[in-house]
Amino acid sequence: MKKELPLTLQQLKTIYGEDWYLFIKEIIPNCFCSTCLGVVSIVNYKIFVNNLNDIILRGHCAVCGNPVNRYIETGEDEEYVIKIKKILKLQRELK
Ligand SMILES: [Zn+2]
Repeated sequence: MKKELPLTLQQLKTIYGEDWYLFIKEIIPNCFCSTCLGVVSIVNYKIFVNNLNDIILRGHCAVCGNPVNRYIETGEDEEYVIKIKKILKLQRELK
């Protein structure tokens, strides 16, 4: 089973750094809704990271309100992985 840990929006901003605008411009408005059968914006989402260092948004469709997930393959980008690992390590130490 894939393990997922929750991230805060602030932690996600730290991971994206200078690429944060890409997240807002390209990820948020480009989610697939299986009810609308089209590309929609995701709203009211929660952020998770899995054991592959990929980020998952779990939220709702801005149009119909049904659940929408967005999988982001940050685990394939070394720069993101370094930051994700740092954040998760810090999080473990604070517990
Ligand atoms: Zn929809």
